[in-house]
Amino acid sequence: MKRILVTGGAGFIGSHLCERLVNEGHDVICLDNYFTGSKANVKALMGCGNFELVRHDVTSPYYAEVDQIYNLACPASPIHYQYNPIKTTKTSFLGALNMLGLAKRVRARILQASTSEVYGDPDQHPQTEAYWGHVNPIGLRSCYDEGKRCAESLFMDYHRQNGVDIRIVRIFNTYGPNMNIGDGRVISNFIVQALRGEELTIYGDGSQTRSFQYVSDLVEGMIRMMNCDGFTGPVNLGNPNEFTILELARQIRELVGSDSRIVFRPLPSDDPRQRQPDITLARRMLDGWQPRVPLREGLERTIAYFRTIV
Ligand code: NAD
Ligand code: UDP
Repeated sequence: MKRILVTGGAGFIGSHLCERLVNEGHDVICLDNYFTGSKANVKALMGCGNFELVRHDVTSPYYAEVDQIYNLACPASPIHYQYNPIKTTKTSFLGALNMLGLAKRVRARILQASTSEVYGDPDQHPQTEAYWGHVNPIGLRSCYDEGKRCAESLFMDYHRQNGVDIRIVRIFNTYGPNMNIGDGRVISNFIVQALRGEELTIYGDGSQTRSFQYVSDLVEGMIRMMNCDGFTGPVNLGNPNEFTILELARQIRELVGSDSRIVFRPLPSDDPRQRQPDITLARRMLDGWQPRVPLREGLERTIAYFRTIV
C-alpha cells in the first residue's frame, strides 16, 4: 500500500480518484483550497482511517513524505478559471513547480492532470499526442491553456534535468456525479436546466462537437498511467465517441423527461469547433485501457446525482 497525495482532491475528478485509492487501501492525503471543490465531495471518506483532508493552496510549498502525487489542483471550467485568470496561471505554474519540487525531494512519482486544451482550437482531427496544438496565447482561455502547457513543459524539464519520475495525462471532457452545480460546463448546465424546467442554453448553433468521458473511465486510466513503468506520456485519456452539442442537449432533455425549450446564445470567444481524442497510445501503453461507460449510461448516473441536489 502506498502513501498518495492528491492535490485538488475535493474537486469533481479528485473526489472520485480519492475514493478509489482509499477503497484500494492506500494512505491518501487530499489537499485542496476549496475554490471549486468542497468537503461534501469527500464526506463519505472522512471517517476512513486511511484518508486525510488538508486545506492548502498549491501556490505555496507543501511537504509530506509520500510515494505518489496526483496533481489535479486547478479550476477546470471556463467560468471558474476565468474568474481570476492570474490566479489560474499561478495555480497551474506554481502548483506544478511546488509539487515537482516535493516529488524531487521525497523521490515520489508525480502525475500531472493536463488537458485537451493544450491542443487549443485544433486543426488536426482527431488529436494525437504528437500534435503541438493551436492555442491563442492572449485570449480569455489562455490563462488555463497556457498555464497547462507551461506545467507540461516544467514536468518534462524536471524529468530531463533532475530525473523526476513524471507522468502526464491529457484529459478530454469528463463528466459525472460531484460536478460543481454552478461551474457552467455543458453537461451539468443542461442537466440542471432540464431538471428545473428552464431553457437549455446552446452557445452558437450547437454544431460544435465534444467527446465525453465518464469519470470512472478516466480514474481507471489515471491509475494505470501512474503505475505503468517506463512511460512518461503525455497520453490522451478521453472517450472518442463524438457528439454535437445540439445532440447532447436533445439526449439530456429526453433522459430527464423534460419539456424545456432549447435556445441559442452567442458562442464564447476561442470556443473550439471540435474535439476528439485519438486514444491509440493509451490503448497500447495502458494494457488495453479504453472507456467502458456509454454516454447514455453515464448521463443516467449523472442525472440521478443531480436529482439529489437540485
Ligand atoms: P474541479 O474544479 O472540480 O477540481 C479542481 C480542484 O482543485 C477543486 O477542488 C479546487 O478547489 C482545487 N483547487 C483549485 N485551485 C487550487 C489551489 N490553488 N490550491 C489547491 N486546490 C486548488 O475540476 P475537475 O474537473 O475535477 O478537474 C481536475 C483536474 O483535471 C484539473 O487540473 C483540470 O484542469 C483537469 N481536467 C479536467 C477536465 C474535465 O473535463 N473535468 C478536462 C481536462 C483536464
Ligand atoms: N456550452 C453550451 N451551453 C452551455 C455550456 C457550454 O452550448 O450551457 C458549449 C460550449 O460553448 C462548448 C461546449 O458546450 O462549445 C463544451 O463546453 P464546456 O464548457 O463543457 O467545455 P469545453 O469548452 O472546455 O470543452
